[in-house]
Parts: sequence; structure tokens; C-alpha cells
Amino acid sequence: MPADHLPKPPWLKKRLPSGGTLAQVEQGLRQRQLHTICEEGMCPNRGECFSQGVATLLVMGNTCTRNCSFCAVASGRPAPLDPGEPERVAQEVAALGLKFVVITSVTRDDLPDGGAGHFAEVTRAVKQINLGVGVELLVPDFQGSAPALDTVLAAEPEVLAHNLETVPRLYSEVRPQADYQRSLDLLVRAADQGGAAVKSGIMLGLGEEPREVERVLTDLREAGCSLITLGQYLRPSAGHHPVIEYVTPEVFTDYGRLARQMGFAAVASEPFVRSSYLAEHYYRQSLEP
Ligand code: SF4
Repeated sequence: MPADHLPKPPWLKKRLPSGGTLAQVEQGLRQRQLHTICEEGMCPNRGECFSQGVATLLVMGNTCTRNCSFCAVASGRPAPLDPGEPERVAQEVAALGLKFVVITSVTRDDLPDGGAGHFAEVTRAVKQINLGVGVELLVPDFQGSAPALDTVLAAEPEVLAHNLETVPRLYSEVRPQADYQRSLDLLVRAADQGGAAVKSGIMLGLGEEPREVERVLTDLREAGCSLITLGQYLRPSAGHHPVIEYVTPEVFTDYGRLARQMGFAAVASEPFVRSSYLAEHYYRQSLEP
């Protein structure tokens, strides 16, 4: 029985902050014709992040070639790549004065390299005019292409993130065009190369069992993943996958403790955690001895 016909539990009520740099962030994004996953994905933290001058940029358009049942991003036929986008992303990072930025994309199965070359160009452009900036790339699975992943890693991001999103049993209903082992293999390859810290994340409340979550955490550690995020899935619309369970903050704390015991260097496990939430903080934490 889905849980989201019930009123949201108190821990999921969030006051929407405003002010700070929120208007400046929104204006910069419009001016430079840039998208964010914060807006396209209807992230519940966007007021908080924007008002602190933080946003996660969504490159290669706002139309995705896949149709995952949890995701608010529109699916369809994307427009061709915009060659001016890397420069505009770099300018936006400079305008926001970011020392660390998370960049993600829609899945571009229509492109021969899955968009890997564009990720690399964006990363290089950002680093060129923002000296010392840290870049976290949250990438799709590139349909398992090792050369595509290597192209991205050659641009030397500080963090290579790829989300498993859920437990393998639920892939067919949550990520029908994805494959659990293929995603794990991508993380293994990234970790083996040794340059970037490897990060992943899952959503809870989609119908997974605790032992399945523990298995995913074990798989991720064995894959060489050192940063992990766990957050509550929230349904973007009635047409999306239902929320099966509102997982309590105490259970998130327990998973967080377990993940730290397993050896993850940085763990974010709370209902409102999203893959890029406080990304700079967790990256820096992962560097601590
Ligand atoms: S948590 Fe990430 S996706 Fe959500 S608003 Fe903040 S930066 Fe954007």
C-alpha cells in the first residue's frame, strides 16, 4: 500500500528559505540559459541551496532519453548539444564564486559517447577560469561504455558520482533502462583509476527491504565507493512511482552508522539528503584522515 496518500510525517515538513542569494542565482541561470537539477528535479532543498549560492547544474538540455519512474525530468527527444554551454557553465561558477560545483546531465543515449566528451569540456572550461575549483560530476551510466567513462575521468574531476538509486530488485520498475551490475561496474572502473573520489547514492521509500539496502551498501564499498548519500524518495507527481514508505529519521541514522562502520569516508543519510546536498562539505569530510 503506497504511503503518499497519507499526510507527510512531521520530519518531512520543510520551511522554504528565501532571500540570501536566491534571486541572484535564479537570475544568473536565466541570463546564461542554464538548467539545474534543483529546478528540473523539483528538489525540496532548492530554496535552502539557492539562498546559500549553491546550485547543481544540469548540462546537455532538460530532456532525458530515459523515463525512470522516480524522476521529475521530462523525457523525450533532446536538442543537439550546445557548444557554448561549457563556457557559460564556467562563467556561472565564477559569478557564484563557487569553490566546489556539482554538474550533472540528463541521460543522452542518443549521443555516440553518451555526452562524455561534453562532460569533459564542461569540466575543463570550469577549471580553466575558476582556479582551484573542485568539480563533482554526477554522470549517467554511458550504457556501460568504458571509453566514455575514461573520457570523463581524463578531465580530472575531484569526484565521480553515479547513483545506484535503488536496490536491484526494483530496477525494472524504477530504472527500466538501467542495469544494476552495469552501474556497479562503472563505479569499480572509476575507483580503479584512482584519480577521483567515487560517490553514489540511493533513495529510500521505494519499497526496498533493509537487508537489500545493506547489500547495496556492501556492494558499493566493495566497488571502491567512498562517499554515499541516502535520502527519502518523494513522488514528483501522481504519475510517478508511489512512495511506499516514509522512512523515519532514526532508520536513516542507523543506515548512516552502518555505512560508516563499513568504511565509507563520508556519509549523508537523512530524509532530505539528495545526491548533491552539501556536496562540498561531504567531499572535504572524505579527505579527512
Ligand atoms: S540538494 Fe542538490 S539538487 Fe537539491 S537544491 Fe541543493 S544543490 Fe540542487
